[in-house]
Amino acid sequence: MELDDHAEDLASDLGVDKEEVKSDLENLVSYSVPVDEAKQSLRRKYGDGSTSSTGAPSAVDVADVSPDDSSVTVTARVLTVGKRPIHYRGEDHVIFEGELADETGKISYTAWEDFDLEAGEVVEMGNAGVREWEGNPELNLGESTTLSRVDEDLDVAYTVGGDADLADLSPGDRGVNVEVQVVECERKTIDGRDGETEILSGTLADESARLPFTDWEPRPELEAGASLRLENVYVREFRGVPSVNLSEFSTAAPMDGGVDARDDPERLPIREAVERGGAYDVELVGNVISIRDGSGLIERCPDCGRVTQKGQCRSHGAVEGEDDLRTKAILDDGTGTVTVVLDDELTAQVYGGGLEAAKEHARDEMDQSVVAEEIAGRVVGHEYAVRGSLSVDEYGANLDATAFARSDDDPAERARDLLAEVEG
Ligand SMILES: [Zn+2]
Repeated sequence: MELDDHAEDLASDLGVDKEEVKSDLENLVSYSVPVDEAKQSLRRKYGDGSTSSTGAPSAVDVADVSPDDSSVTVTARVLTVGKRPIHYRGEDHVIFEGELADETGKISYTAWEDFDLEAGEVVEMGNAGVREWEGNPELNLGESTTLSRVDEDLDVAYTVGGDADLADLSPGDRGVNVEVQVVECERKTIDGRDGETEILSGTLADESARLPFTDWEPRPELEAGASLRLENVYVREFRGVPSVNLSEFSTAAPMDGGVDARDDPERLPIREAVERGGAYDVELVGNVISIRDGSGLIERCPDCGRVTQKGQCRSHGAVEGEDDLRTKAILDDGTGTVTVVLDDELTAQVYGGGLEAAKEHARDEMDQSVVAEEIAGRVVGHEYAVRGSLSVDEYGANLDATAFARSDDDPAERARDLLAEVEG
C-alpha cells in the first residue's frame, strides 16, 4: 500500500481530513517510524473510540468484516470445526477450519494453530487476520491471534455442528458430517506428491442426492452397500459438482438400520443443467438431432486411450490403434443442447451388435463409417431419456451416459414393432 492509501484509510476510519492525516503520516515515516506504528499513533491522536491504547484492532460484527480490514476482533459462536492436513509452501500443516457466526451473519475461518475450538462455544478472537477468498472475507487465526472463551449466549440463525444433507453441500464446506449409503466404491492408484498413492472413489447417496466422493486415506468401512456416518469431511468441486472428501482426520462409523438412499437421478432441463456448470447423475430428456464425428467404430491410442485420427495420437504420434465403439450424440430439448457420450456397451445396444459385429460390418462394406451411419439411422429423430454426469468446459457440455433409453415410444408404434417381429 502507498502512503496515500494508508492516509485515505485512516482518514475515512477516523472521519478526519485526509491531507492532514497524510502530512502527519509523512512526518512520522520520515523519522523512520514503521508505517503500522505511525498509523496506530495517529489513531490515538485523532481518538478512534473503538481502538484501545495498545492499538488492538477494533471489535466488529461478523457482517462488517471486510476484505479491506487487515485484522479485526470478533466475538462469535463456532458453527463447525474441520481438521485437515494441507501442504502449504513446501511444508505439511494441520489446519482447523469451518464457520463462525454472530447475530449479524457468518464467516469462514482457518486456524493455523490448534485453539481446541469446539462447535457451539462462543469465543472472542483478538487480532484475527482477514484475507479475501473468492471475493469474501475470511478470518485467519494464527500465532498473533488471542482467543478466549466467552460466557455469553450468542443467538445465531445457523445450525451449530456440521450435520448436512448431500443436496445442501457446496464446494468449500468444511467440517461437515453426513449420513450416507456407499453406492459405488473403487480403489485407484494415483500419482500423488509422494509418489503412487492408493485412494478410494465412488458415489455416496442419501435421500436428498447422490454425490461423488474421494477417500484419501482408504478405510475398510467404505464399501458398496455400507451405511455410514462420516464426520469431518470437506467438499471440493469435481467437474463442476460438489465432491465429498475424506482426509486422515475424517471418521466413518457404520450405522445401524441403514440409510435410505435416493436411487433415481434428478431430471433437469438441459439449459439449467448446463448453467449449473456441471451436474452429477442427472436425467436429461430430448431429441437426438445428429451424431457427431468420432462416433461408431473408432481407434484409440494404446498408451493414453485418446481417439486417434488416421493412426495418429495427439500425444504419442503414430500408434497401432485399438478398436473401440463410441457414440457422440447431440441431444436437444428445446432449452439447450449437450453432447451425449455413449461408451462401448451403450453403443453396442443402440447399434445392435458389439465390436466384432461392427468390424465385420465395416469389412463387408469396405467402409468404417457404415457403423456410425447405422447408429445415426437408429437414433436420430427420436426422443431419449439419458442418465449420466454432465461436465461443462471450454469445449462444450458433455454428458457421460450411464443409461440411454427411448422415451418416445407410443403404444401404437410399439404394437407395430411387435407385430413386425412376430410376423418375421
Ligand atoms: Zn496417446
